[in-house]
Amino acid sequence: MHPITVTSPLLPELEKLREMMQDIWDKKWVTNLGEYHEQLEARLAQYLGVKYLSLYTNGTIPLISALQALDIREGEVITTPFSFVATSHAIWWNGLTPVFADVRESDGNLDPERIEAAITPRTRAILPVHVYGNPCDTEAIGAIALKHGLKVIYDAAHAFGVRVNGKSLLEEGDISTLSFHATKVFNTLEGGAIVCNSAEMKRKLDYLRNFGFEDEVTVVGPGINGKMDEVRAAVGLLNLQQVDRAIAARKSVAERYRKALRGIPGLRVLEDLPGVQHNYAYFPVFIDEKTYGRSRDEVYAAMKAQGVFGRRYFYPLISSFGPYAALPSASAENLPVAHKIAEQVLCLPMHHALSEEDVQRVLDCLTK
Ligand SMILES: *Cc1c(COP(=O)(O)O)cnc(C)c1O
Repeated sequence: MHPITVTSPLLPELEKLREMMQDIWDKKWVTNLGEYHEQLEARLAQYLGVKYLSLYTNGTIPLISALQALDIREGEVITTPFSFVATSHAIWWNGLTPVFADVRESDGNLDPERIEAAITPRTRAILPVHVYGNPCDTEAIGAIALKHGLKVIYDAAHAFGVRVNGKSLLEEGDISTLSFHATKVFNTLEGGAIVCNSAEMKRKLDYLRNFGFEDEVTVVGPGINGKMDEVRAAVGLLNLQQVDRAIAARKSVAERYRKALRGIPGLRVLEDLPGVQHNYAYFPVFIDEKTYGRSRDEVYAAMKAQGVFGRRYFYPLISSFGPYAALPSASAENLPVAHKIAEQVLCLPMHHALSEEDVQRVLDCLTK
């Protein structure tokens, strides 16, 4: 039986890509804000319903640059342990101290009460993640930031296209960052973007992604190389044409999973939220060993033996990794809920190309 992977990249038809690559080769403009780059940047802003978007080379440099753009040069940044490790690395790369706060059991997102409890005189910013594309409590987080004079950067790597009451989730906070890595809902092989709220901030981010160059002879700040090349921009333009279909396919997989798993004792699935346009980026199941009868790791291993590859997103917690484990906020006592869900979570295969038989094979691993 063929292996069923947790994710599978959305890829354009090779013929169409070949035509665009021929065009790039003919023009001999292969990177540095070329024609396809500019087109993709504009079309993404339009598709996502945001005003200001800067295309980047991946989803990690935007996190690093966002802290730079907001002039956060020292102190602490409150963040979540329940994410991909890049979230905390971006804080570390800026010489700042990550402070971990606990998450909510309901959706794995930062708990606003725990954010507020973690604030000290050294706190400068909050860096939450919309885990699995489910919106954080942006209203509560915004109110805390306002009250304490903090910046908010959302790691929206999972939240491509998510809308709340018709409005893009990506316009919350001061800055949101996106990843277009091959494993994400929308990809450019490697890639990413920053969404911000003003033309002035976009200008700053555009400098930052190009070494700080304002023009040929002027460098306005210590920028980095965050540019996307023309070939990946072409992949993005083609993938943008098929991303709605891919999300619809993911949605029908999510609906089949939920229908089959909802109500099984010891299994918890996340439901769609009222007013939210979801992207079905991931399908996490939380396994309570006592009630279900098998541990998450037993299920994970049994699935693997059947050629079904789930992923334990996010286990281990970022706070358990080498660079962070010694921080006071990384202690298990500070993060009880994050530890609990990290032990329970298993993300089932979720992508646009799963067949009905694939979905059934995944379900058989959990229901038989
Ligand atoms: C994928 C991901 C990133 C990193 O994005 P890259 O494009 O791989 O650099 C950051 N944060 C989260 C939550 C992610 O899932």
